[in-house]
Amino acid sequence: AIEFRKVTKRFSGNTILDEISLDIPAGSVTVILGPSGSGKSTLLRCINHLEKLDGGTIRIGGELVGYRQKGNALYELSSGKIAAQRSRTGMVFQQFNLFPHRTVLQNITDAPLRVKKQSRQQVLTKARALLQQVGLASREDDWPQQLSGGQQQRVAIARALAMDPEVMLFDEPTSALDPELVGEVLQVIKKLAHSGITMVIVTHEIGFAREVADNVIFMEGGKIVASGPVKTVLDEAENVRVRNFLSTVL
Ligand code: ATP
Ligand code: MG
Repeated sequence: AIEFRKVTKRFSGNTILDEISLDIPAGSVTVILGPSGSGKSTLLRCINHLEKLDGGTIRIGGELVGYRQKGNALYELSSGKIAAQRSRTGMVFQQFNLFPHRTVLQNITDAPLRVKKQSRQQVLTKARALLQQVGLASREDDWPQQLSGGQQQRVAIARALAMDPEVMLFDEPTSALDPELVGEVLQVIKKLAHSGITMVIVTHEIGFAREVADNVIFMEGGKIVASGPVKTVLDEAENVRVRNFLSTVL
């Protein structure tokens, strides 16, 4: 599970996350919705400590993220410990961020070869299985720029999975894609859902959210203004702001 307790984040005096408390069950799929600037990306980035907190705590599987506690005080972990913790969380961005001078296969194997205590053969076998899983088995020797946006994003997902993450964070994974390429990426994410990995997905794809999400969180102004099972939040949106938002993205 991922537990937020009164998480506060400020940028230059502006409160971007305002005492967020939230429980994300292990193995579940949570979709985060909300208008631009509401704090969705910041919330994701706090989960793997890409942002330092100004207040509150986040725990994954009971373990404090980014800090250790001594008495009532929190001390930030060393950069090595932060990196080790972060390697248990995969992240997929709107811009796929593949390494342009590494092949598809190298993009997937680089991090596990560096970090995991596994043989080269094990890492390669796993990488090829992941490429198969995302439908790109024949493209392992291609360069990223030889692939379509949808294919690059599927490689980025395989790359994140190669580290065997407990948690996968997706920040608008299809927003940069041409419409005809959105489906193939959502399909890959859908197949991953409920396979044991805890997934948190920022997306405006409401149809996808309905199909795949267990829970939906609606953010506005750094607060969670609605949350709960996907049907409750989307269909019984008594919250007028949620209804208005949905009418703009549907
Ligand atoms: P979008 O839908 O446009 O991606 P979002 O909900 O993901 O929006 P965030 O990116 O989390 O929103 O940003 C929330 C607020 O925090 C915005 O007002 C943004 O300008 C501000 N912000 C985010 N990162 C920084 C930063 N590094 N420095 C200063 N302000 C920031
Ligand atoms: Mg964002």
